[in-house]
Amino acid sequence: MPDSTVGSLLQWLDECPTPFHVVATAASSLDAAGFTRTTQLGNELPGLGYLAVDGCIVAWRLGTRTGALRIIGAHTDSPNLRILPNADIHQLGWSQLAIEIYGGVLLNSWLDRDLGIAGRVIDSHGVAHLFSAPKALARVPQLAIHLDREIGDKGLHLDRHQHMTPVWGSTKQSFADWLERTSGVADVSAFDAHLFDISRASLLGADKSLLASARLDNQASCWSAIEALRNAPVSEHTSILVLNDHEEVGSNSSTGAAGPMLANVVSLIASQHGLSEGQQFDRLASSWCLSADNAHAIHPNYAERHEPRHAPLINNGPAVKVNGNQRYATSARGLAHIRSIAESNGIPLQTFASRNNVPCGSTIGPITATQLGIEAIDIGIPQLSMHSAREMCGASDPVYMVSLMSAFLQR
Ligand code: ZN
Repeated sequence: MPDSTVGSLLQWLDECPTPFHVVATAASSLDAAGFTRTTQLGNELPGLGYLAVDGCIVAWRLGTRTGALRIIGAHTDSPNLRILPNADIHQLGWSQLAIEIYGGVLLNSWLDRDLGIAGRVIDSHGVAHLFSAPKALARVPQLAIHLDREIGDKGLHLDRHQHMTPVWGSTKQSFADWLERTSGVADVSAFDAHLFDISRASLLGADKSLLASARLDNQASCWSAIEALRNAPVSEHTSILVLNDHEEVGSNSSTGAAGPMLANVVSLIASQHGLSEGQQFDRLASSWCLSADNAHAIHPNYAERHEPRHAPLINNGPAVKVNGNQRYATSARGLAHIRSIAESNGIPLQTFASRNNVPCGSTIGPITATQLGIEAIDIGIPQLSMHSAREMCGASDPVYMVSLMSAFLQR
């Protein structure tokens, strides 16, 4: 049976349909643990604090002047369908919503699902207001098999523009009017509105050993990191958590891993600790970053897609991700470091490497290592159906991940 703490992960996943909701949920969890929100970086940083901007949050627990940094990173965004500014389409008796595909969506997984809408509106004073409507509002309807006789032989072909446009009524709907009513904001100037599958996160299997939900990549890592930081004991090391936006589209933005938020906080902590430039370089050289992003568990129906000696099993612990071409940042030294932490704490650990003819994705690990000069270790819980509207992982692995992250912050 899975650990009871996994219930808090299920709740998190249901509360966080967008990166903005991830940041809000992370912030309220940190508030409850005694962290202070910082809005003016010109002031002294609190010992336990965080900075939240749009879809990114950086939190810290200050250690001593001579301690090193222990950074955990993850990303808040997931591939999805997003509503365009001029949203209304009225044609052929249908009301539809103009959308943009964000990131590497598994398009077929969005068909015939009941979709809700969530995000934020910006009012005429520039203030952001979150909203979420987890109701059956929209659907991307699949073509009947009778009108697509070749689907059996040729497979499903979806045109990214024409075939993914959702319907959301048979009478003339105005998205602007709906948004005003739903958000309770009368002067909406602009919005970020994302579609999401309204099925709730749930345990799955006759033994309830699996977990099915949207956005496991990468909110399972975000949840684990917040749990670890909240409960981290006082240490000489300074613990830092960064949850970046825009990883799924390359990380180049002010709130992405290639942006300045983490570097700014690291530099402010150095100046608060009174470190010279040389002392800061020494600190960075003795620091570690754990970059957490889900890995691919071996799929029982597609086992040939995996490197057989590096194919993570479900519910057998987090997988360290290795790629000499630097799609993942883990070096042999990093692998040795995290193995020693796992071993001394009795936490199972696996390794993932992709086949040479199946190139892997990347993570924020190499970007963070490049930006800060800190050695990074890429790691993730194994899952199936990555980038589907509904993904699946083992129910025990997120709990193993919390234990590993907690131990990492102390070593
Ligand atoms: Zn990811």
